[in-house]
Amino acid sequence: MAKKQYAVIGMGRFGSSVAKALSGMGFDVLAIDTDEQRTQEISNIVTHAVSADSTDEEALRALGVRNFDVVVVAIGEDIQASILTTLILKDLGVPSIIVKAKSELHGKVLSKIGADKVIYPERDMGLRVAHHLASPNILDYIELSPDYSILDMKVSGSMLGKNLQELDIRAKYGCNVMAIRKDAEMNISPRAEDRLVDGDILVIVGHKDNLTKLERAYQ
Ligand code: ATP
Repeated sequence: MAKKQYAVIGMGRFGSSVAKALSGMGFDVLAIDTDEQRTQEISNIVTHAVSADSTDEEALRALGVRNFDVVVVAIGEDIQASILTTLILKDLGVPSIIVKAKSELHGKVLSKIGADKVIYPERDMGLRVAHHLASPNILDYIELSPDYSILDMKVSGSMLGKNLQELDIRAKYGCNVMAIRKDAEMNISPRAEDRLVDGDILVIVGHKDNLTKLERAYQ
């Protein structure tokens, strides 16, 4: 199977981090930014780096952006440019368009005009940090949908020495323990009799309201 081709528009902190990570995974990446200095900075990391204005349809056409499997739009401040770019990419027939949104309203517009996925990096990171601050045992919090999330919870206090059956998280809180992480190892099919020890991390999926109850119970 041919390697996927990615284009990333906007080399701010978020866009350049996506471009670098994709390159590190061995993918071909085209990086685009109006700012020549920004394209220069990323040029020795990605496959191609080009200075161009993504609101210029002809420029995107000339770069062959339509041939990319996935295009990430990482322009935050200039909402108009982000929307216009998304529209042009849609018109060009790019199969998968992922766009970073600055606000809910911005995100709504992006979804309406055909963005395949809208991401909110600042909001999501804020949520993760807040959950960790509120309950230090919560190491990570990832929103799956408006109602469901996944959290990583450090085993501590009354959980220590118990097994999953004794904790009975499913019956008590309506949440599911999907995995138990021990250092770099992940047990993805935990058994009811698996005993929890210090250092274990539970990966739990559930409705937000139920996860909140669980977080409070094991604070
Ligand atoms: P960060 O990820 O750093 O938080 P941000 O959300 O603040 O970024 P901006 O700084 O507004 O986003 O934009 C990110 C990058 O996108 C900048 O380097 C900017 O030069 C570039 N950019 C803005 N408009 C365009 C455009 N029309 N075409 C190409 N690049 C653009």
